[in-house]
Amino acid sequence: MSLIVMKFGGTSVGTIERIKNVAKRVAKKKDEGHDVIVTVSAMAGETDRLINLLKEIDPKYDPREYDMVVSTGEQVSIGLLAQALKSMGYDAISLTGPQIGMITDGAHSKARIVEITGERLRKELAKGKICVVAGFQGIFPETGDITTLGRGGSDTTAVAIAAAMKAKVCEIYTDVDGVYTADPRIVKKAKKLDKISYEEMLELASLGAKVLQSRSVEFGMKYGVDILVLSSLEEKPGTLVTKEDKDMEKVIVSGVTSDKNQAKITITEVPDRPGIAAEIFEELAKQNINVDMIVQNVSTAGKTDISFTVAQTDILRAFDACKIIAKNIGASNVLSDENIAKVSIVGVGMKSHAGVAAAMFKTLAENNINIQMISTSEIKISCVIDEKFSELAVRVLHERFVEEGDHVS
Ligand code: ADP
Ligand code: ASP
Ligand code: MG
Repeated sequence: MSLIVMKFGGTSVGTIERIKNVAKRVAKKKDEGHDVIVTVSAMAGETDRLINLLKEIDPKYDPREYDMVVSTGEQVSIGLLAQALKSMGYDAISLTGPQIGMITDGAHSKARIVEITGERLRKELAKGKICVVAGFQGIFPETGDITTLGRGGSDTTAVAIAAAMKAKVCEIYTDVDGVYTADPRIVKKAKKLDKISYEEMLELASLGAKVLQSRSVEFGMKYGVDILVLSSLEEKPGTLVTKEDKDMEKVIVSGVTSDKNQAKITITEVPDRPGIAAEIFEELAKQNINVDMIVQNVSTAGKTDISFTVAQTDILRAFDACKIIAKNIGASNVLSDENIAKVSIVGVGMKSHAGVAAAMFKTLAENNINIQMISTSEIKISCVIDEKFSELAVRVLHERFVEEGDHVS
């Protein structure tokens, strides 16, 4: 008998009808003779609703209170799913993050998993129970406070449980039937991939393809857990996220994605002397603000502009912090721009093909899309552009690199 970890996202548990459907899929696995741990998200729209309640009180809310509020969404789902299973005659138990020993650090609203003790899970599985675990939440033992793992964090809960409990595969059930070459809601011609490497999936997820949270892919890669992305509504083969193989390298671009949840900050007329960049970014790091792309202009008369991107959720805090930093270092102004998007192409085949960046820039230029920032790695190229061109950019890049095939010049 093997252990299966299943995860169902918000849309998949969005109504009572759907929860009953999920219960049937879970029960089927149990009937096949597996031990089953199932992780669920909050019902569709619930997390957004809870965040809005908090924002109504104060847009600069305390992340600790955020975690207290948003973690309730998952608790409703686990209770409902466990009850649905019980009403079908199955022995199930709902468990919160703290109850399964989901230990995290104390970075409220974006906590990282430190370990999963899993004692309670082992005990309940030994009794033959189906464990229904709340996704997205954990506990910071130093304070005993509830934490959450960042938006989309239930994927990470599931894969981390699979790793800790030594399950070979983690099944992620969602509202699409796999990972596509682009978001199928934006690009009608997007193709479903049979499999994709951890590295590519990690880039796609970090760059905006929300089908999997990027940390879940990190866990899968680190602990060798295969992740199977499947539809919760239809029984169809999905996409396997796994180790890179030879076939994968033949494809130059395996995915195109965009991320609108980005914002840009520019600190103008920063004195150009050693230690300044360190001073700025150390202060932001201290405040737990993750910085992504950074651009520093050529200096004129000993002054330079520094621009960088942060997650939109951090923009108010980042802006306030930069105002203080600017004053301390003698910079003249801080500007923020929330109307940006990052558009990216990803593929392990880029490692062995030249000219991909040029082809990407040319495609954007032909469509009159101005590039504000660029960043590259071995297997991805990202450009920051005006948010209003985000969907157009994804479509034209998909057309260029996926639909037209793999030539680059
Ligand atoms: P869940 O609620 O199940 O966690 P999400 O909404 O977080 O589901 O993720 C699934 C969504 O991800 C899909 O509905 C799809 O619109 C979006 N998506 C973005 N990029 C991709 C991609 N490359 N392949 C598949 N889905 C994608
Ligand atoms: N409910 C959380 C969110 O909406 C976590 C998740 O769905 O994975 O972000
Ligand atoms: Mg999700």
